[in-house]
Amino acid sequence: MTKCYICGKWELKAIVKPYVLYGESLGDFEAEQCSKCGEVFYNEEASRKMTDSAKKKGLWGLNAEGKIGQSGTTLDVRLPKRIIDFMDIKKGKPVKIYPESRSRIVIELG
Ligand SMILES: [Zn+2]
Repeated sequence: MTKCYICGKWELKAIVKPYVLYGESLGDFEAEQCSKCGEVFYNEEASRKMTDSAKKKGLWGLNAEGKIGQSGTTLDVRLPKRIIDFMDIKKGKPVKIYPESRSRIVIELG
């Protein structure tokens, strides 16, 4: 058995687990899961297969960085073109905006 990289216990078991990115499954992948803390570790081959699957499904490179802007008395964030295209977002589309925590904002398309 292999030692868990997180909790340090010798409790890793081989499993097959689906990996979900942006709400879409990339497939099932071989992994090891710690029976003590539940952490899942994918090996390099599984990570490479996930990357290939994400690229095929158009899910690769959708994360982006930006800055808060200002428009009058309100603040705004610009959405990158690749996210607009991926989600087929149009100007005027209604959205719901709410904090998920003090460091995460959710924008739900209506
Ligand atoms: Zn563990």
